Amino acid sequence: MNSKIRSWRRQGIICDDWSKMYERYINATNCERCGDVFRKDVFKDGKLWRRNNKVLEHNHTTGRVRYVACSSCNGKLRYIDEEKELKEIYLFFELKE
Ligand SMILES: [Zn+2]
Repeated sequence: MNSKIRSWRRQGIICDDWSKMYERYINATNCERCGDVFRKDVFKDGKLWRRNNKVLEHNHTTGRVRYVACSSCNGKLRYIDEEKELKEIYLFFELKE
């Protein structure tokens, strides 16, 4: 098992076939969600803002792998998860009252 897979596992990411997932990750040249090329420099107001890095995106509730995504999509998807979780918590307490 290589260090990349070990680090994903440490992050609590769940996957049925890590070697297949690793292949998919290594061979991905574009974000599976938005199609952007990985490691493309992102400029904001003419200055290098950040690089669009390749990350393994996962569902923060279930831990399951979703996409080989760019860091930008990863941030957005994380936010969606958190919003969803908050809504579920809210609904739970609303039903209790
Ligand atoms: Zn993306």
